[in-house]
Amino acid sequence: LLSLRDVHQTYGDGEGAVHVLRGADLTIGRGEIVALVAPSGAGKSTLLHICGLLERPTSGEVDIAGERTARLADRQRTLLRRHRIGYVYQFHHLLPEFDALENVSMPQLIAGVGTAAGNTRSRELLEMMGIGHRATHRPAELSGGEQQRVAIARAAANRPSLILADEPTGNLDPATSDTVFAALSELIRQQNAGCIIATHNHDLARKADRIVSIVEGRMTDHIL
Ligand code: ATP
Ligand code: MG
Repeated sequence: LLSLRDVHQTYGDGEGAVHVLRGADLTIGRGEIVALVAPSGAGKSTLLHICGLLERPTSGEVDIAGERTARLADRQRTLLRRHRIGYVYQFHHLLPEFDALENVSMPQLIAGVGTAAGNTRSRELLEMMGIGHRATHRPAELSGGEQQRVAIARAAANRPSLILADEPTGNLDPATSDTVFAALSELIRQQNAGCIIATHNHDLARKADRIVSIVEGRMTDHIL
C-alpha cells in the first residue's frame, strides 16, 4: 500500500541545513496500523507530510498503491491525496467558520460526492466517534478532544486507503485517548486501510500492530 525507499529530506542549505531524513525505508500493508514513536524533532511530522504527498522529499521513492509518486505532476498528486489519503494534522486545522458536520463533509464535496450522500456519511462518522450530538457545533464550541475526533472523522470521510495521523490524541486525557484510538482502529479495519500514527503515548503505541522509530534519520523497528 505504502512504500518508502531511501527517502532523504533536507531543509535549508549551507551551514544551516537540517538533514532530517537520511535514507528512510518503510512499508505499510493494508489493514496494518503502525505506531511512529520518536523524540520531538526526530522527523515524525516530516515523514508523515512526505507519505501524505504534502511535501516532496529531497530524494527517494514514495509509492502509494503501486503508484510511483515522484513521477506525478502536482495536480495528479493532489488527486491521489484527495481520494486515497486521510490526514489528521498535528494541529488539527478544522475550518473555524463551519460546524462539525460541515467540516467532515468538506473533503467529500471537494471529491465530488453529492451533499445528501456526504452528509449521511458525515453523520455516521461523527456517531462512530461518539460526537453525533455535536454535529452543529463549530470548533470553538467543542472541547479539544471533540475537535480531535472531528478531525479523525474528516480524515476518514472519503474512505481513504491510507490514514496518516500526527499525534491524534495529543492533549487528550487517557480515557479519551483510548476511545479515540479504538474508534480510529475500527474505521481502519472497516476500510481495510493502512495507517501510521505518530504518538508520544506509549500505551497507545503498544496497541498498534507494529512500532517504528526514527533514529538519525532512518527508520528502525522499535519495542516498548
Ligand atoms: P514533534 O514531536 O515535536 O512534533 P517531529 O518529530 O514531528 O517533532 P518534525 O516536525 O518532523 O519533528 O521536524 C524535524 C526537524 O526538521 C526539526 O528540527 C524541525 O526544526 C525541522 N523542520 C521541519 N519542517 C521544517 C521546515 N519546513 N523548514 C525547516 N526546518 C524544518
Ligand atoms: Mg510533529
